[in-house]
Amino acid sequence: MNDTMIRLENVTYEYKSNIDEDILTALKNVSLEVKKGEFLAILGHNGSGKSTMAKMMNGLILPTNGEVYIMDMNTRVEEKIWDIRAKAGMVFQNPDNQLVATIVEEDVAFGPENLGIPPIEIRQRVDEALEAVEMSQYRKHAPHLLSGGQKQRIAIAGILAMKPDCIILDEPTAMLDPNGRIEVMNSIKKLNQEEGKTIVLITHYMDEAVEADRIIVLSNGEIAIEGSPREVFRHVDKVKELGLDVPQVTELAYELRKEGIDIRDDVLSIEELVELL
Ligand code: ADP
Ligand code: MG
Repeated sequence: MNDTMIRLENVTYEYKSNIDEDILTALKNVSLEVKKGEFLAILGHNGSGKSTMAKMMNGLILPTNGEVYIMDMNTRVEEKIWDIRAKAGMVFQNPDNQLVATIVEEDVAFGPENLGIPPIEIRQRVDEALEAVEMSQYRKHAPHLLSGGQKQRIAIAGILAMKPDCIILDEPTAMLDPNGRIEVMNSIKKLNQEEGKTIVLITHYMDEAVEADRIIVLSNGEIAIEGSPREVFRHVDKVKELGLDVPQVTELAYELRKEGIDIRDDVLSIEELVELL
């Protein structure tokens, strides 16, 4: 059985300027495989190519060179594009731009309605999707009156109602307050762990990336570091060179080590550090 969810093969993406003939290469010959059920986090400084990569992963844009496959469907095959978008749903940064209806449950129903799903099944899918993000009690509410974290969970429910195998989230918590961030991260983790959804999470919060199975760090359109959170954040200097932070607790352990305290270089949680000390 094939256990690959998303495959990028030698993918290059160029933006062409409308004004002059300038070409900006946003991704340079990138290859990457995301396994079914995996939770992958993508990090990188502004302009490193993260959003370009995300849009490639559900066929919103096509590579200039190379190929992208979603469960063996090439995103270049036009007849497959709706299958691809249903398999790999996308959640964006701004929840206000993603909500289309005036009542929560209608909003969640929008995707499956467009897929031509029969009404009875839509109702069931809306129930399940709202349940999965713990928003059932808000089904009759107006989306614009909800908090940022709640809106973003409704946006996720809207994607879930299309029964995707994979959810790609491009900085879904960037506009949220700390509580909203926690709510959305809890939903994401639950979908991955309890429902087996493949997750691709673009984030600039290191404490969110730590939750992933694997991290890639993009820099100028290339994969600069790849590995488990422990492997990646062990390279404190390298991560910082790429314009990123490391988790606070990793930073603390790093400073302690510099002061001569004998402590492991792959500490990721406060509990771990407390135990070691
Ligand atoms: P990130 O999400 O990591 O901030 P992006 O994928 O948005 O990075 O952008 C990668 C590079 O491509 C940047 O240099 C950015 O300026 C450029 N870029 C992104 N979108 C466009 C566009 N629509 N037209 C031209 N250049 C773009
Ligand atoms: Mg971006």
